Amino acid sequence: MFLKNITIKGFKSFANKVKVDFEPAITGVIGPNGSGKSNISDAIRWVLGEQSAKTLRGAKMEDVIFAGSSKRRALGIAEVTLTLDNRDGSLPIEYKEVTVGRRVSRSGESDYLINNNQCRLKDIKELFMDTGVGKDAYSIIGQGKVETILSENSTDRRELFEEAAGISKHKSRKEEAEKK
Ligand code: ATP
Ligand code: MG
Repeated sequence: MFLKNITIKGFKSFANKVKVDFEPAITGVIGPNGSGKSNISDAIRWVLGEQSAKTLRGAKMEDVIFAGSSKRRALGIAEVTLTLDNRDGSLPIEYKEVTVGRRVSRSGESDYLINNNQCRLKDIKELFMDTGVGKDAYSIIGQGKVETILSENSTDRRELFEEAAGISKHKSRKEEAEKK
């Protein structure tokens, strides 16, 4: 599985719809300070379900919506869509290409979508569980994350290995079953 592209519209500094294509190997994003490089990784984390405004470098969730500039007025909706290549079947869904989307409006309406169908955040989490993709999973390593991993206590570090070993899903289902 690999990330094919991301479409961003109304999210942070991206007022116009922008599509960024990724290659299967490594993609570098370069640009001057403040040009929106980190906003792209924020968009990836957000669409994967990040609920913490602080992690997204804002004060409240509404801060992810384009707030306007000297030339352009603020927008009312932020929307991000990831397209993933699933030809290897890593994602447990019968599609060779999978899209995952998230939308939020200033009035607080919020939607998650898998292949353009509305779904719950839980469905997105389950889709990526044990794949290494996720807002906190090891395929997104932000600034400072390496030090965090090294300094984490053994229980936190164990979660990382469980995700890599592909057993988080079973553990999460077991915990849910025990709650009932
Ligand atoms: P650096 O090289 O310094 O790390 P960067 O390319 O990573 O820079 P970002 O942090 O991605 O830059 O982008 C910061 C810019 O995004 C700032 O100019 C900020 O004003 C803008 N920005 C953030 N949130 C919004 C928003 N809601 N509406 C409009 N612009 C926003
Ligand atoms: Mg940055």
